[in-house]
Amino acid sequence: MRPFTLVSAPDVATALRLAADGPGARFLGGGTNLVDLMRRDVEHPDTLVDLAALPLDEVVDLPGGGLRIGALVRNSHLAAHPRVRRGYPVLAQALLSGASGQLRTMATVGGNLLQRTRCLYFADTAAACNKREPGSGCDARGGFHRAGAVLGASEHCIATHASDMAVALVALDAVVEVQSVRGTRRVPVAQLHRDPGDTPQVETVLDADELITAVELPAPPAGAASRYRKVRDRASFAFALVSVAAALRVEDGAVTAVRLALGGVAPRPWRAHAAERVLLGAPAGEGSYRAAAEAELAPAVGLPGNAFKIELARRTIVAVLAELEGEAA
Ligand code: SF4
Repeated sequence: MRPFTLVSAPDVATALRLAADGPGARFLGGGTNLVDLMRRDVEHPDTLVDLAALPLDEVVDLPGGGLRIGALVRNSHLAAHPRVRRGYPVLAQALLSGASGQLRTMATVGGNLLQRTRCLYFADTAAACNKREPGSGCDARGGFHRAGAVLGASEHCIATHASDMAVALVALDAVVEVQSVRGTRRVPVAQLHRDPGDTPQVETVLDADELITAVELPAPPAGAASRYRKVRDRASFAFALVSVAAALRVEDGAVTAVRLALGGVAPRPWRAHAAERVLLGAPAGEGSYRAAAEAELAPAVGLPGNAFKIELARRTIVAVLAELEGEAA
């Protein structure tokens, strides 16, 4: 581990100024991902701006039925919050499926959104990895890529985004509030992460000195049931092979509202727009769910070690929608 300076920011304005002062500064939330990567010499900031003292740890109601979640709210606190459990079960379930109890107690909402991929080669400085060292190659393509992406990947990188929470947030049309010394802006979570293209090292649309200060959720779709299903290699403390976040409303036998997002299959939380287009107005039932899953996975491309995810994603979509139909009818 290389030497670095740790600075505790007393307020948001100071944190933003410290980040703007030097390109080597990074914000420190719970540290569950960044500190690991510093130990492995994958990340080497010269300054850590500790955010622990900032007043960004509240969950408050918004006019109109939505929710504003401070960026430093811990994952465990958010999962247990009565407003989240009652109004956004898909989000509570996604949070509880992530990491372990100990990690959820430390991890923050903002940090969860910005966590780095868990591709094995990214964390191994002896391996070729375009994301860690642009232009060096991608050892995952010809190596162990069971966790790799089947949607949105490029020849330069097939890494998946690791967050469960972000998949639920994308399905819920969440928006992040971002601040910097230049002001405040709002970015839909669905537009926060970038596909890798030929610059996989650039993972989000944020500048290095921009701080996520809050996540805002609109009111949940009225009358819709929601659920998060995560398929993984073991029952806890494992990243998703495939996950589905869904909300569904059925009236008079037809789908009248649907939100669908996928995790574990793409470099970013993947909003399933093609599937939603098939489903909206269609008769509720397995035929429609299968057609929607086929439409979403039509552009999917697999490698020998991860092609199984394509059919796994189709089947998980169908199963989740069928379960929700019973609750939503
Ligand atoms: Fe690196 Fe991406 Fe290839 Fe993994 S998939 S080795 S993160 S370039």
